[in-house]
Amino acid sequence: MTQLPLRAQLAAALGRTAATLSRVTGRGDGSVIGGRVGLILEPDLLRRLAADRRLALVSATNGKTTTTRLITSALQELGEVATNAFGANMPAGHVSALSQHKHAPYAVLEVDEKYLPEVLDTTGAAVVCLMNLSRDQMDRAAEIWLLAQKWRHALQGRDTHVIANCDDPLVTWGASTAQRVTWVSAKQRWREDSWCCPECGGPLDRKDDDWACRECTFRRPEPTWYLADNAVIDPRGRTWPLDLQLPGRANQANAAIALATAEAFGLPVERALPRLREVRSVAGRYTTVERDGRVLRLLLAKNPAGWLEAFDVADPALPIILSVNAQGPDGRDTSWLWDVDYRVLQGRPVYVTGERRLDLALRLHVAGVHFELCPKFGDAVDAQAPGKIDVIANYTAFQQIRAEFGRAV
Ligand SMILES: [Zn+2]
Repeated sequence: MTQLPLRAQLAAALGRTAATLSRVTGRGDGSVIGGRVGLILEPDLLRRLAADRRLALVSATNGKTTTTRLITSALQELGEVATNAFGANMPAGHVSALSQHKHAPYAVLEVDEKYLPEVLDTTGAAVVCLMNLSRDQMDRAAEIWLLAQKWRHALQGRDTHVIANCDDPLVTWGASTAQRVTWVSAKQRWREDSWCCPECGGPLDRKDDDWACRECTFRRPEPTWYLADNAVIDPRGRTWPLDLQLPGRANQANAAIALATAEAFGLPVERALPRLREVRSVAGRYTTVERDGRVLRLLLAKNPAGWLEAFDVADPALPIILSVNAQGPDGRDTSWLWDVDYRVLQGRPVYVTGERRLDLALRLHVAGVHFELCPKFGDAVDAQAPGKIDVIANYTAFQQIRAEFGRAV
């Protein structure tokens, strides 16, 4: 790897110092502040740090952090990998991740959907993974169409190798200007944001995973990788049982994307898959924490599609605690709660907590789900008999629970 110019070296070193100071003073993991300091001193730092490495960028509404982790685990078979493991997914976080592993020949970076064009342009990444697009707390459907349009412009005319989920029409549209795309049938549970053709606005006809516009030529491309029942079928038709430790169908989709990405880096499935199976939790997600014999499994769900995935993971035989906040990172508007179908919780012991518990309580009441309202998360835990309990929380609620129970990863 070529040596960074002196100014960039200095910027990277000072950024690392700032990150260390931030950590030792208990102000967080330091990844953002360190990168910000570096970028102020050398605005071109990200470009310089990315040069001479093979990079994969990972973007989606849901599953970015987990998929980034899975791809990183796989590529460690090939050598050292720089990555933003804790979800600092904007350029300052990328600078920090790359400067912490200056000599890593590979990098896997989770990228915020809106920043993807800028980060792709700056880093010239060889591979981009695009998985799903759905309404987020702050983004309504029209805005994700604009995002996909920006992806199209960013990918046009580039030789980037795109790995994309062709079961998501909006992702397909966003990826389809790229010269080279590996299409993965990674499934799509949440369909509420893709009933219309992103190209012409006409209705999409759907049959199982297949889809096609009724009014124009836009249709699902033929995939070369498929997610089947807990297995991935590769382009040569071989079936690989996944047997992940991470639970749920969403993580099987993430694994399918990760295996296709690993192959784009020259890593065959037989070497990548055992690495994916080693991953047990990602930035605290799926972790279990224990208090007084109560074993809580923590599931993060930030938007309607994420709640659907969390319901898929949650054990119907167990009590469930739901915690909803509406601080800045959650989005202050909780109207998205009305987009989630909660009827799957009917008949289960449900406990509702978090700062916006009343909003969720009203929604559950309308859905005919019985629940108990708990002012504090601790009250909801104390109300349980010893044993296993599932917890679904949105972003800041999840962070509060992790802080209360220790930041086990
Ligand atoms: Zn159309």
